[in-house]
Amino acid sequence: MSPAALRFLAVAAGAAVAVASFVGLTRDGMHPASRRVAAAEADGTVRLGGVTYVDLADFCARFGLAEQPAGADKKIVYASKWSKLEFEVDSRDNTVNGLRVFFGDPVRSYRGRAWLSRVDAELLLTPILRPGLDQARVPALKTIVLDPGHGGNDSGKTNDRFKIAEKDVALDTARRLKKLLETQGYTVVLTRTEDRYVDLAERPAVARREHADLFISLHYNSVASRADSVTGVEVFTMTPQFQYSTADSEHDDDDGAKAAMPGNANDAWNTLLGYNIFREMHDELKAPDRGLKRARWKVLVLAPCPAVLVESGYLSNDAEARKIATPAYRQQIAEAIAGGVRSYGAALDRLRAKS
Ligand SMILES: [Zn+2]
Repeated sequence: MSPAALRFLAVAAGAAVAVASFVGLTRDGMHPASRRVAAAEADGTVRLGGVTYVDLADFCARFGLAEQPAGADKKIVYASKWSKLEFEVDSRDNTVNGLRVFFGDPVRSYRGRAWLSRVDAELLLTPILRPGLDQARVPALKTIVLDPGHGGNDSGKTNDRFKIAEKDVALDTARRLKKLLETQGYTVVLTRTEDRYVDLAERPAVARREHADLFISLHYNSVASRADSVTGVEVFTMTPQFQYSTADSEHDDDDGAKAAMPGNANDAWNTLLGYNIFREMHDELKAPDRGLKRARWKVLVLAPCPAVLVESGYLSNDAEARKIATPAYRQQIAEAIAGGVRSYGAALDRLRAKS
């Protein structure tokens, strides 16, 4: 092992101990001026607005990423032969290998240096840059539970012009995906196989009963306002403990400081799974990039295994709804998700081969 790797492991071990000190933190609605006051910790981290930050340059150096000259957009860019990270100061909307990825905390500038929140460093970027690092075990991947959203008297989103309901296209997508994943050798179970109502808590319960290794919830999107302008794919994973979901800001009354939830046991693997599925969907569907996001959706909160919720397109946009109404496009969506599962599985296989 290289000295750099040893150093990182030492830092990571220190961080694991330091995580315990998070418990005392609150996001307590301090005045914004007070939030700016930073406290330096002995381990080189700083506290900004109640969040622990690590030095961005140090973090990137551990992964062989070197700072690139800033372009006209003033973004902070780090790159290696394999990876490229683009950050905007004070924003959670950043770019990882060309994909839009929403961070839990904004990257901050302080004392002339850029800072990355420790939770984002450990649970978002590390699992993408070096899957499996600091993880005690590599998850199995045999049984996959697919969860077609809605059903029965819950139609989900609809498009009246093309006469489609989310519950129907989600079920059809799940059936297509099931076939593809079975061809790849997986055992696949659906949370519903017909048009019936299934309670939200019952869906992850199916995964628990089936001893699932993976849970994929399938949805289609809609917006009430700007209905015509919004299109594209977004993929959600469970929000890590102490962080805000993508739709919430630090000024919202979010539940970010609450105790860890079941879905948080798999934070690092959730990221790896979400990234791989989003990567494939982005590359294959050529739909607008709505981002890899975080939310405490009930199915993700209660998931007993790595889990993801996929929003494959907007029924509120007629052009996108017209595509979603075709079996050919739903097949393409299923193939992209299956491709993401294949990449995730390949990453696990590589880790198993190393251990
Ligand atoms: Zn839905």
